[in-house]
Amino acid sequence: MAIVPGAVLRGHEGELPPLLRPQPSAAAARAASHPAHAPLLQADGLTLEYATAERLVRATHRVSFDVHRADRFVLLGPSGCGKSSLLKAVAGFIEPREGEIRLEGQAVREPGPDRIVVFQEFDQLPPWKTVLANVMFPLLASRRLPRGEARERALDALARVGLASFAQAYPHQLSGGMKQRVAIARALAMQPKVLLMDEPFAALDALTRRRMQEELLSLWDDVRFTLLFVTHSIEEALVVGSRILLLSAHPGRVRAELNSHQFHAGSLGSPAFQAQAQRIHSLLFEEHEGDEKEVAG
Ligand code: ADP
Ligand code: MG
Repeated sequence: MAIVPGAVLRGHEGELPPLLRPQPSAAAARAASHPAHAPLLQADGLTLEYATAERLVRATHRVSFDVHRADRFVLLGPSGCGKSSLLKAVAGFIEPREGEIRLEGQAVREPGPDRIVVFQEFDQLPPWKTVLANVMFPLLASRRLPRGEARERALDALARVGLASFAQAYPHQLSGGMKQRVAIARALAMQPKVLLMDEPFAALDALTRRRMQEELLSLWDDVRFTLLFVTHSIEEALVVGSRILLLSAHPGRVRAELNSHQFHAGSLGSPAFQAQAQRIHSLLFEEHEGDEKEVAG
């Protein structure tokens, strides 16, 4: 797993452009003007498109949702419905054709350290760096903090994810779940407002996937970060999410939004869980009266 503020840290090398450097005074002013009960993140009528050589591909059509602090907000829908596109738009990599994204009331126009993508690639922590050095790396690369403070911040983040005693360990000495915690600690050390995860467990076998979901939830219980999580698995959405936005097939539109905080890994197979999964399945895949089949231009 690797974490990246913007695309820039993906290869674990290089410097961040000026826009990724912190701007404390602007951030403080924004926080002061944004009431605590207002949504942290707002997606407002997002139409996302890609221009290919032959045509314009519409990925989503006027999708709106609100994410509150400490939500585990899941975007759920079939492959190709625009989930990744929505996440990329929130990260600031895609400019909406229509609509706006606001973080604490401010329009999102570019990538920034307040929204960090936790990538899914396992074993992407550089193996030659200790856990501590891995967590310090983005803080140093982005010149957010001098070395001594970066070390303090990283140790604090590792303590929050329960890995303080593994600071001097190397990635190969950790389980998959612990590596996920390191990747999340690395993101949290940057003090983002929201963590973004795009199908992080899709490539895993069923048992490992279940364990990673449980790890993620127990970490959330400890830390209460705000998560925007993409999946095409109904079960995963119910287990991981506190709220779920259902998107219809391509181009993605909002089908429904529902609560799922009552479910966790232990609810799998319970009648209530199965009933909710069935309901979601119907909402996602049944034809609906009055649906437009195509979207013009
Ligand atoms: P999901 O993550 O839900 O599977 P995506 O957001 O990846 O969906 O894609 C939504 C739609 O946009 C799909 O039809 C896909 O083919 C198209 N798309 C995604 N990325 C590009 C791109 N870079 N260029 C053209 N079309 C794209
Ligand atoms: Mg995707």
